[in-house]
This record gives sequence, C-alpha cells and structure tokens, in this order.
Amino acid sequence: MAKKADVAEEITAKNCVFDGSGEFRIADAPTSLGVDRDRRIEMEGQTEKNLLKMGELQDRLYADGREGLVILFQAMDAAGKDSTIKHVMGAFNPQGVSVHSFKQPTSTELAHDYLWRAECVMPPRGSIAVFNRSYYEDVLVARVHHLEEGYKMPARCTEDGPDAFYRRRYRQIRDFEERCYEEGYRLVKVFLNVGLDEQKERFLERIDNPAKNWKFSSGDLAERKLWPAYMDAYERTINETASKHAPWYVIPADQKWVARLLVSQAVLKTLKDIDPHYPEMPADQRENLAACREQLISE
Ligand code: ATP
Ligand code: MG
Repeated sequence: MAKKADVAEEITAKNCVFDGSGEFRIADAPTSLGVDRDRRIEMEGQTEKNLLKMGELQDRLYADGREGLVILFQAMDAAGKDSTIKHVMGAFNPQGVSVHSFKQPTSTELAHDYLWRAECVMPPRGSIAVFNRSYYEDVLVARVHHLEEGYKMPARCTEDGPDAFYRRRYRQIRDFEERCYEEGYRLVKVFLNVGLDEQKERFLERIDNPAKNWKFSSGDLAERKLWPAYMDAYERTINETASKHAPWYVIPADQKWVARLLVSQAVLKTLKDIDPHYPEMPADQRENLAACREQLISE
C-alpha cells in the first residue's frame, strides 16, 4: 500500500515541507519516492556531505550561542526514528547536543501540563535538542485513544468534548512554538511517513531477527490496527500546527537511505537559515591576544 511518488521527481526536502501555506492531505503524501536502488551509494554520499556541513554549522551555532534548535521526530512504529536519529546525530559534536525520548508519561509528568516535560528539556541557546517523539504525542496517541477522558483535570478542561479539547491543544502548541521562535529558537518537525506494507516487513524483521526482538512488543500490533485513526490524527495535527517558523517535513520513509538524505537536507537548510557566526573579538581583546602572542613567542 506504499504510495509512490513520480520517480522523476527531484529528491529534495523542499517537496516535503508544510509551512501552513497549503493544505496537507495524508492521502497525497508518498511513503516512498521509488528511487532506484542503484542510486543508494550516490545518495549516501550526498547525505555524508550534508552531515559534514551540519557539523561545521553546529560548531558556529555553539560558539555564537544566540539561537537554539529543536529537531523533533514523530512517526508510526518502525518508521525508522531511532536509526535516523543515530545517523543525524553522527553529524554533531556531542558537546552541544542532547537527545530526549518521550515515552509513556510518568505519574510526575502526568501531574503537570503536557508541555512541561518538553520545556524541561529545551536546549540552551547555542545547542541542539533532538526529540524522539515529543509533545505531539499529546494530540496524536492521546487523541486516538481518548486519553483526555482519563486525565485528572477539572471538568471545565474536558466538559465541552474532545474536539474542543484538542483544538485548544493545537492552539497551545502553535503559541508555544511561536514563543520559541520569538525567544531565539528554531524548530524542525519531521514526520517519517512509513507505509503500512513496509511497517509489516519491519515488524516481521523484528520478530525474526533475535537481535531486534527487543524492539517489538505485541502492543505494536494493536496500534497498527488503529492506522486510519492515526493517519487522521496526523493529518489534522500537521494542518493545525504547520507554520513558517515551525514547519513540518513529511518525509517518505519506506526507503531509509532516501529518508536520511531528506532529513539531512531539512536540518541543513534550517542551520543555514540560522546563519550562525563565530563571535568577533572586540578590539581590546584582540590587543590582549596580540600581547599574549608576543609573550609566547619571546619565551
Ligand atoms: P519504536 O518505534 O522503536 O517502537 P518507540 O518510540 O515507539 O520506538 P516505545 O518505548 O516502544 O518507543 O514507545 C513509547 C510509547 O510511549 C509510544 O507508544 C508512544 O505513543 C507512547 N507515548 C509517548 N508520549 C505519550 C503521551 N504523552 N501519552 C501517552 N503515550 C505516550
Ligand atoms: Mg514502539
């Protein structure tokens, strides 16, 4: 059931971006670009080049310390979040980058509002945070499973029904992301769009390969059965929260090596938009440096 894009289509993340200016329809979003396997080496080479450039820009971002970056990943199970994160992280100096997984909320997390745990792990400016899942779970899995019915909250929060409840959350997320931008942060939001057939293959691999057994849980099949509800939730969420400053990249994920290239393009573009520069030394400090130089040379 993989939806294939026109093979001739250019392989660029520009075709995958939603910034709120157009409507996102999940039925039109390809899960594969059907790229010929012969091109794998070439594409991996392009990805490696992008990773090198990302590393250079991260160095400047860290030195500059003015702007922070959050790269968040959402996806159905087995779409390749972990391996994509492993790959993208390879670009960066570990000093200045952190990864956070958003699992089932703990009781402490549930006792706070849902954005709290994200706020706690926002990176300092100059740094990058990678979110493996995110506060978007609170409008995705929460919506699909009607979790709002079980939240310990006053009646006024939920009494007007799930639609109003989630509409408020979309607005809160838009406001949160706008605030991040206004306060010196950029967000890259990636939805790894895997097909139902490809997910089946990857689940089978997780079951058949002992080294991957730990990645599979029987609960994954229950979620798979809810596929249409999840797709509706993703479509709604992306339309409600895509914005110029916090765009969604809907990445075809059936071919991992194509997905990695597209993700590297998206992150590289954002780092280029930030355009970080090494701080310039004020004149008096430059004089001090020159004096230190003299001192060393005359030792
Ligand atoms: P993989 O894709 O390899 O299975 P994963 O990200 O699914 O990795 P798991 O530990 O299997 O990692 O699952 C984490 C689970 O936590 C997911 O099912 C996710 O939907 C759930 N989760 C995350 N945030 C929330 C939340 N706010 N409310 C309810 N469930 C959540
Ligand atoms: Mg899982």
